[in-house]
Amino acid sequence: MQEKPYFCPNCRSNRIKFSVITSYQQSFLKDALSGSITEFKDPDAIAEAEPTIQCLICHFTGNELRFIKQAEREPRMNTPTTPLY
Ligand SMILES: [Zn+2]
Repeated sequence: MQEKPYFCPNCRSNRIKFSVITSYQQSFLKDALSGSITEFKDPDAIAEAEPTIQCLICHFTGNELRFIKQAEREPRMNTPTTPLY
C-alpha cells in the first residue's frame, strides 16, 4: 500500500477509516460422490499489484488508486472553514 492520502470517491466524507481486502487461495479436496469436502490445504495469500481498499463509512470497495486519485483531486484543506474529516 502506498503512503499517500486516501479520500473515498463514493461518500467523499472519509479520509481516515479504511480496510484492505486481501485475497487468499485455499485448495481443497472433494468427495466425488457426496460432494463433501474431505481436506483443506493451508491458505496462500494472492499477491496483488494494487490492493483493494474498502471505505469503512459507506463500504464502497475499489482499487487503492481510486482513493488516491480522489484525494489528489480534492486535497484536504487546512482552513478553519473546512470540516475536519
Ligand atoms: Zn465512503
